[in-house]
Amino acid sequence: MEKEKIEKLQKLIDNSNKIVFFGGAGVSTESGIPDFRSVDGLYNMKYKYPPEQIISHSFFIARPDEFYDFYRDKLLIEGVKPNTVHKALAKLEEKGKLLAVVTQNIDGLHQAAGSKNVFELHGSVLRNYCQRCHKFYDDKFIKNSTGVPRCSCGGIIKPDVVLYEEGLDNAIIEGALNAIEEADLLIIGGTSLVVQPAASLIYYYRGKDIVLINKSETPADSKATLVFHDGLGSVFSALKI
Ligand code: ZN
Repeated sequence: MEKEKIEKLQKLIDNSNKIVFFGGAGVSTESGIPDFRSVDGLYNMKYKYPPEQIISHSFFIARPDEFYDFYRDKLLIEGVKPNTVHKALAKLEEKGKLLAVVTQNIDGLHQAAGSKNVFELHGSVLRNYCQRCHKFYDDKFIKNSTGVPRCSCGGIIKPDVVLYEEGLDNAIIEGALNAIEEADLLIIGGTSLVVQPAASLIYYYRGKDIVLINKSETPADSKATLVFHDGLGSVFSALKI
């Protein structure tokens, strides 16, 4: 990684007061959470059905027990902790320099690091609700349950996660869009920017500079002021925040 580029990023961060961070799976992989779409991610694991099919709305309805076997095993990962990136972003927010984190991840690690204004486009495994009475249950309740978890009212509990075939929450999209529109620096990290509609949120940005940090190339590289093809952790640990 070039020192010059880090210095440039440092200057951009120092001079901004309304930073928005838009993050993908790469933020979580450094905490040991597998990336759904990377080569060594969940898609290459041996399961009876492809993960993409298991984590779909129709599969949840048709085979909730098999859905939950997979969900408990692969999505409710125990003992994961926020990493350098989560912590740096929380610190920037605390200092009044960061407006919001917009994330495609569902692990709740930004909040665990102390971030307050987080827009979780795809929901969170930490929240699960009864489909009948809407009572909420935490991740531990699901982890400790067997078979299909049920509410005290008898209703089936569903994770507050946007499954395949399901639409994003409008209020969350609106909040994310407002933050991006207001931002004076947009940092995009750990996402290949191919998942829609999340990927098109960045077109709402009106500021001058975009910083892109991703291990591989993205369709937005040409729009960025600064591009790092590195891991997020190595970039953030080189910064003074
Ligand atoms: Zn209920």
